[in-house]
Amino acid sequence: MSEPLLSWSHWDRCPPGAALAATDPEIATLIEAEIARQGEGLELIASENFVSPAVLEAMGSPLTNKYAEGLPGKRYYGGCEVVDKVEQLAIDRAKQLFGADHANVQPHSGATANAAVFLAVLKPGDTFLGLDMRALAREHKPKLIIAGYSAYSRVIDYAQFRAAADEVGALFMVDMAHFAGLASTGVYPNPVPVADIVTTTTHKTLRGPRGGLILCKAAHAKAIDKAMFPGTQGGPLEHVIAAKAVAFREALQPAFADYCKQVVANAQALASAMASRGWHIVSGGTDNHLFLVDLRSQGLTGKVAEHALDAAAITVNKNTVPRETQSPFITSGIRIGTPAITTRGMGVAEMARVAELIDRALRAAGDADQLAAVRHDVRALTSAFPLYPVPAGAVTA
Ligand SMILES: *Cc1c(COP(=O)(O)O)cnc(C)c1O
Repeated sequence: MSEPLLSWSHWDRCPPGAALAATDPEIATLIEAEIARQGEGLELIASENFVSPAVLEAMGSPLTNKYAEGLPGKRYYGGCEVVDKVEQLAIDRAKQLFGADHANVQPHSGATANAAVFLAVLKPGDTFLGLDMRALAREHKPKLIIAGYSAYSRVIDYAQFRAAADEVGALFMVDMAHFAGLASTGVYPNPVPVADIVTTTTHKTLRGPRGGLILCKAAHAKAIDKAMFPGTQGGPLEHVIAAKAVAFREALQPAFADYCKQVVANAQALASAMASRGWHIVSGGTDNHLFLVDLRSQGLTGKVAEHALDAAAITVNKNTVPRETQSPFITSGIRIGTPAITTRGMGVAEMARVAELIDRALRAAGDADQLAAVRHDVRALTSAFPLYPVPAGAVTA
């Protein structure tokens, strides 16, 4: 595979444009440096992705100027007739994408989406449970049972959580922040039909702007909307909501399902290439877009590994592993994800090369010359998969 999965045909260059370059060269130069960094590096952070030019344009639009507290048709400000239509499109597309009764597209982030759910369904002192342990549910009778992970590489059995919730009269919530894109295409199970409430980010596998989304059954719609505004947030970010609508439309296209299948195929190929080079993959492989490498058998910590890879322009994050023996600031593992490199157009063939580069960098930890050599080879690979068109004369990091 070598065709990028995003279409650049109507796009000449990324911001900054002439206005920013002329009025604030300091920020303009830094944006250009970040565009260059993203283009040159190998982005393997499982929660990151690259948005399309259409998403970027919606985010950078004058919709940011509009106050629109409330919901479409029920606002506290005048002049909302246009943004009402924007937000309604985002809501309708989100509902269609996941088969949801109700959608609130206003959360500024995954964290505020979760905060709003807690405000909507829990009272101070209420119990909630975040582990799949039936005995604990029977003992503590929680009001809310939550399933949701950011470093779990296998399929979640929603039916078991649902049964535990029903047994004790709890609501069942899923935080699908990481795998929402995969769930929207059926490449990974969609929790929306099974759960009472589902929260997510829109910027991870869903490949939209940085933000959040809440989907729920009709019975919880009013409580969720009220908890979002005025409960936890003020005015919605209508420019970001427009960008969410664009991303949802993209996710409804057949090409996005192909993308999601490729993300998983790449994660499986990369995990297996790492394993054949002697690295220990937690749970032996993956069913989704990410996996964990337990570094203990090679005498490395997550912190040292992250640092070595950074020096080679390979970006991952350190992560705790099962039966962790280090502090969360050190850890014994790294988390590796394929959503971003798949968006660039890399396929299974490139995963062997990526595994080789990671392997070389990890074995060269602490050796600046060897890491610089790996960095050179990383650039050779990434330059064959161009990302955003880099403005002429951009300062590179
Ligand atoms: C990323 C993530 C969040 C937080 O999202 P933000 O937009 O950074 O607030 C919440 N829950 C899970 C499971 C996540 O993976």
